[in-house]
Formats: sequence, C-alpha cells, structure tokens
Amino acid sequence: MWTRGLARWYEVHGRHELPWRATGEPWAILVSEVMLQQTQVARVAGRWESFMALWPTPEACAAVPLAAVLREWQGLGYPRRARGLHHTARAVAADGWPGTEAGLRALPGVGAYTARALRVLAFGASTIPPQDVNIARITARAALGKEPQDVRQPSIEEQLAAGRPRSLSARAFTYALFDAGALHCRARPLCHGCPLTATCASRSRLASAPPDRGQRAPRYHGSTRELRGAVLRAMLADPVPASIAELQQRAGAPAAGRTATDVALILDALVHEGLVTTTARMVRIN
Ligand code: SF4
Repeated sequence: MWTRGLARWYEVHGRHELPWRATGEPWAILVSEVMLQQTQVARVAGRWESFMALWPTPEACAAVPLAAVLREWQGLGYPRRARGLHHTARAVAADGWPGTEAGLRALPGVGAYTARALRVLAFGASTIPPQDVNIARITARAALGKEPQDVRQPSIEEQLAAGRPRSLSARAFTYALFDAGALHCRARPLCHGCPLTATCASRSRLASAPPDRGQRAPRYHGSTRELRGAVLRAMLADPVPASIAELQQRAGAPAAGRTATDVALILDALVHEGLVTTTARMVRIN
C-alpha cells in the first residue's frame, strides 16, 4: 500500500498542536478551513482562536452585523470569505446543519472541498479525504508517480479510497496527508524523512529533477488588492468617510498616487460584493 509508514509517522510528527484539531465542532472546523483557504497555517492559528472566542457558535456569529465580522477578519485578506462565513452562520442558525454533502455544498462559500472536509473532519464520515492542493500532489506523486496536473481527479480518488491505513480514521488519514504534504511533499519536495519515501512512485524521478524554485507570490505592495484592503478598512471605521476624497485620504498610503476614480471603482466593487454599504452622505465621483 502506498501509504505504508504514514500512520506511525503521523503519530510522532503530525501537527497535533494545531488548535482546531482538538475539536470536532462543525462551526470550529468550518472557520479553520475557510481561514486556511488562502492564509498560511502559522498566521491562522492565533486568528482562529480569537474568532472562536468572539463567536463560538453559528448563532453567535449570526447575531452580529457583517461589519463586525469583516473588522475581525482584517489582516487575513480575501474578505469575501468572511462574508460567506457570516451568511453560512445565518443559514445554520436558522435551519441547522445540512445532513448531506450536497446540502453542505449549498451553503454560502462552501465548495466541494470544504463540504467534504466538513463531512470527514467534523461529521465523522468514513469517506475519501477532501482533495486540496497538498493531498492531490502527494497522492499523485506517491501512488501514481506523476504530478497532479497529469492525473485525472477520479484516479486520485481511487488511490485515496484504497490508501487509508487500517489504524487511521478518515479524519486522522486526512490530517496525516495534510501534514506529510505540507512538511515534505511540497512543490519542491523534501523526500528525506518523508513517511512515504520507501514506496513512493516519484522518489527516483524527483531526486534527479532540477530544483523547483517555485512561483513567486504576486507583489502585494502597490497592488489593487492592497488598495481594496485599505478602502475596506476605512469603510469599516466609525464614522465612515463622508466623501470619496475623505475615503482616499483615510485609506492612507495604498491610495496615494491613485485617482479618485480608482478609489470609487474599488468602493463600487466592495458594495457590489455586499461587503460594505455606502451612506447617503457619500459623494460619488465617476
Ligand atoms: S518521497 Fe518525496 S515525492 Fe514521494 S511523497 Fe515523499 S516528499 Fe513526495
């Protein structure tokens, strides 16, 4: 079996200290999964704890306005995730958790990956692990000897279905694969010490491959993303800016050198996405 060695390695080297691994509460798991979608584990840990301290249940989160959730989310980036969480909190507070994976997928901001993750990590389903980038990569390499982009998704699912060691639950198997993928089978693999090295179908191929220097992260400073963050921050302040000129000034350095139209367009996009509402006092320029 391609996962031989995984269970013992996970027991010793798994990231058991991650705070969301101590719980099986669906809301707590959902918050962690949504935060982890586009933010690194090291940055998420403390932020997850403070979010959960404020809103430990969907009902608690549903009872506050979206602006409060967006304020707490600042610094994590991609605030649409916070809006999805807030909408899901309201749906679950009203109707409870859906009992099926399809029902979970219908929740705002919950896609195929997150629905499967909830089933396995929170609802105890004994099913195939969710396929994130790391799990797809380690499975394609270790079981099939290929890179994930060269493999059809059903083939990866087949290997995942056949690969769970008997001593691991579906939840523990998922966490073990997350950890082996994050700690060893990265874009540039660290095969030394990897629990799958004895049986890995890619080990010899990757050992002789030139080092992958990875892709450079897109520049943040001076980007539209940075300006969006600054405009959103200014719009969540109390009182909100009364004009585009004031908004531009309060958005600070990211808005310096931008035109009022740039700032107004960003504001329009945020309003369109339902992240902020403009006030009657806001003077629009465009
Ligand atoms: S041995 Fe190397 S390529 Fe194979 S699963 Fe481990 S880290 Fe990935």
